[in-house]
Amino acid sequence: MNITQNLLTPNKYSRPQTALKGVKAVVIHWVANPGSSAEGNRNFFNNRKSGTSGFGSAHYIVEGNKVIQCLPNSELAYHVGSNVYTASALRNLSSYPNNCTIGIEMTHPDWTGKPDATTYKTTVELAASLLKTYGLKSDNLWTHHQVVGWKDCHRYYTNNPSAWVQFVSDVNKALTGKTVTIPTPKPSNKNDLELVEAYGLGDKGAKVKEIQSNLIKLGYKLPKYGADSHFGDETAIAVKAFQKANKLAVDGIAGKATLAKIKELLTKSKAPSSSTPSKSNSSKASGSLKSKVDGLRFYAKASWDDKDVVGTVNKGIGFPTVVEKVKVGTAYQYKVKNSKGAAFYITASDKFVEITGAIKSPSPTKTTSKPKQASKSSAIKSVGKIKIIGVSNAAIIMDKPDRNSAKNLDTIALGKTIEISGSVKGSNNPKGYWEVIYKGKRAYISGQYGSKV
Ligand SMILES: [Zn+2]
Repeated sequence: MNITQNLLTPNKYSRPQTALKGVKAVVIHWVANPGSSAEGNRNFFNNRKSGTSGFGSAHYIVEGNKVIQCLPNSELAYHVGSNVYTASALRNLSSYPNNCTIGIEMTHPDWTGKPDATTYKTTVELAASLLKTYGLKSDNLWTHHQVVGWKDCHRYYTNNPSAWVQFVSDVNKALTGKTVTIPTPKPSNKNDLELVEAYGLGDKGAKVKEIQSNLIKLGYKLPKYGADSHFGDETAIAVKAFQKANKLAVDGIAGKATLAKIKELLTKSKAPSSSTPSKSNSSKASGSLKSKVDGLRFYAKASWDDKDVVGTVNKGIGFPTVVEKVKVGTAYQYKVKNSKGAAFYITASDKFVEITGAIKSPSPTKTTSKPKQASKSSAIKSVGKIKIIGVSNAAIIMDKPDRNSAKNLDTIALGKTIEISGSVKGSNNPKGYWEVIYKGKRAYISGQYGSKV
């Protein structure tokens, strides 16, 4: 095996330079272009930077004993993005499997997709070495088809399940140096083939456009690209802001719960009573805000972090409602609301913004919020339930949202449900934490181990 690194030029369509959230699987593809070379396919991915042939890439391309590496293993490739995924992929990988998988493309001489013997052997070695690197086993090998449930990729292994079993077995031999039981190919049961709608980075089409226009209707800005049918970073940021505001798991993926909430809010906002909530918002608030400069950033939450930026406002534009002034790090932000009642945060520096009306400032005594906090242990408000998923036996219930330093209070078995009061970002888990109600008190479960029911 001879690996040549010929990395793609960083670009939005094939090398977005997004970090993988760990590696959970290696996915096998065919290039779907008989007789094409590894280099030709690499250049095809690279030319996607022009934006005229959509999103798509993979980490490796194999031709004979030659391997071209197109992306570092630590970066996300657009190789398994789909509007739907198999239940097995959602359970074992993530709700957006591009974020935790490495893709290998195999070249092939004809339309059956069957690789030649050398390409086969090289792919077996490459897959085994990747699995070994990430502490994975041969049952962490997937075909593209097994991840998305519909795509004819890898065609040969999709049409010839026994050849796939052989491939997995050969990788296992390379990995362990001995022959063991032949692993069963996934998906193993009928439920695994059930497809679930979810949209994430790299997706495109009419449904993405619909989600984008709905987010805009609900007051989430897409200032650069608008409803352009391409699910890029800007859309992901807006989805995250929406999820955060609606106490959904904040993953930037428009899945079942997020789509249902968007629909619910749109239905509500169409109802004749829609003026009531916004009226009550404006009566509570006491000022409005205007930007003094062009391109002033505003945030989904009280933060100065680039990743929380939702959009920008230009000079003279602003928000009709200023709720309060809050301290963020060493500086201040205003919590503001747009005409639809969606909350955002923006700098409170008078260099950049102008306020009309009086604003509630943070008071050191916090006389209004203290009594509420004091009562929190006696009655935490439930906002719904999660079901425990993604663990082999049970999930750990922790005393704080930090899996590296929390005390373990208890465990809860796979499939059980528990009431939640919300979700938080916490520390040391990109998936965040569910705030659960455990024995009447607030406790935490890692975000990936709960699914809202
Ligand atoms: Zn594929």
